[in-house]
Amino acid sequence: MKISELKYVRPDIEAIKARSAELFEAFDNASSAEEQLKIYNEYISIGENVSTQSSLAYIRFTLDTRDTFYSGEIEWMNENAPALEELNLIFRKKMLGSKFRPELEKALSPKIFKDYEIAMKAFSPVIAEDCVEEAKLQTEYKKLLSSAKIPFAGGEYNIPQLGKFKESPDRETRKSAFCAQGEWMKKNADKFDDIFDRMVKVRDRMAKKMGYKNYVELGYYRMGRDCYSPEDIAAFREQVLKDWVPFVCERKAEQAENLGIDRIMLYDDPITFKDGNPEPKGTPEEIFENGRKMYKEMSPLTGEFIDFMLEHDLFDVIAREGKSGGGYCIDLPEYKMPFIFANFNGTYGDIDVLTHEAGHAIAAYKAMNGNLPVELRSFGMETAEVHSMSMEFFAWKWMPLFFGEKSEEYCAMHLNNAISFIPYGTMVDYFQQCVYENPEMTPKQRKDLWLSLESKFRPYMSSEGIAYMEEGGRWQYQSHIYERPFYYIDYCLAQTVAFDFLIAMLNNYKDAFARYDRFVSAAGSKYFTELVADAGFMSPFKNGALRHITDELKKFAEKENI
Ligand SMILES: [Zn+2]
Repeated sequence: MKISELKYVRPDIEAIKARSAELFEAFDNASSAEEQLKIYNEYISIGENVSTQSSLAYIRFTLDTRDTFYSGEIEWMNENAPALEELNLIFRKKMLGSKFRPELEKALSPKIFKDYEIAMKAFSPVIAEDCVEEAKLQTEYKKLLSSAKIPFAGGEYNIPQLGKFKESPDRETRKSAFCAQGEWMKKNADKFDDIFDRMVKVRDRMAKKMGYKNYVELGYYRMGRDCYSPEDIAAFREQVLKDWVPFVCERKAEQAENLGIDRIMLYDDPITFKDGNPEPKGTPEEIFENGRKMYKEMSPLTGEFIDFMLEHDLFDVIAREGKSGGGYCIDLPEYKMPFIFANFNGTYGDIDVLTHEAGHAIAAYKAMNGNLPVELRSFGMETAEVHSMSMEFFAWKWMPLFFGEKSEEYCAMHLNNAISFIPYGTMVDYFQQCVYENPEMTPKQRKDLWLSLESKFRPYMSSEGIAYMEEGGRWQYQSHIYERPFYYIDYCLAQTVAFDFLIAMLNNYKDAFARYDRFVSAAGSKYFTELVADAGFMSPFKNGALRHITDELKKFAEKENI
């Protein structure tokens, strides 16, 4: 069945509540671990149904944000999510307090129980209303961002559509595209500031109601972090400033020389080549055909995966009016289907969808078709991003299919962008930490903070002369800051592990892919730090880990002259 043919049915919340109450009672009265496991399985399958329907509503809403039916369903889901979360809370409490807990831990996994303990710290009924308000603000932000109609070069564009001009080989075009977006954002600055301010306030309120000092602590629990703390992130950040930023500065000096410019401006940052970044060849259909060929050749698993995706229409990648921006991969667990959403704009980013988002989808596909307990089929965001970012590197071998003679240029550019991402991502995370530690900051102070972090983490770059961005407004279109607090560092941790896979791959592709396959197959059954160690890599929190990567990357870049 194709995804468009799947029937959406709003979950019956009253029936779920009633059945859950029966299951909870039966759980209490159960006389064996087996009985409790049976109840566990039924309860989990209710959750899978809700999650499938909620993914379906989300997919259809993002495909057309003007669709009032699905935007209504999203609102309904948001309003009811806390009630469902309360049921989960009761269920987890019962599992944690079960007199058969040792048997349950043995049958399922002790990790599930540790993750339950963290989830208990992440939610309490006292914040239920605040969660509803937060979700409404997230939708408000998404609508604001996707409502952009930016006049540019005689046309009108939304933010993803403007992407192509922001990376034009012509420097003036790039600058004007950034300025056009900046002007639009400046016009809407009050809205951007107001939504964020309300978000900070509601999150801070949640944290305080639950007895935490501020949102940082709660934010970590809500991210489900089960094997590293803010102190570990601080240790990572120190390495970024000490070892990574100087490395980026060296490479950026070379980049400026290649581009023939004195100073890298915000609009030069992603440009590796003077005549423009390489663009993929062919129509979206041809790109997909080549994607199929690539995954067929890569491994039996990836071959099976790509056939399944194309057969069920599980990609929607053409940019259209009304479609939400960005890209994502989401699961429909009841159908064992991942779904990939993107906005193709004719740039190399289109190929990233085929590699990055497909990396997520492959991991989800494998996990959904595996036999781990349901809760171990999902994983932390940092683990998920290792799946996707490493796949971007494993796909290098097939880049001639997409870029022809420019495939080496693509790899060089990809490498540069990945290298310069780490300080940016770390800065986004640190920005949020400072914001939530100081919830009383004014919008102006937040923008000043952003500018001061820019000068520390990206000292090689300037935003001068670019409307709104020069005032420190750049972060307001970094949707994670609004929608997914503290998610961003996960990309940085994952990028470092992906670099480890790249270094391993350059040494021995087959061996590296086998290690990757192991990493993916373990899904959420192990902690992130364990998965990294199992793959034979150093923990990114350990001093020296980043230095090792920069040393290896320097050697590689010298050898390949990139
Ligand atoms: Zn991703």
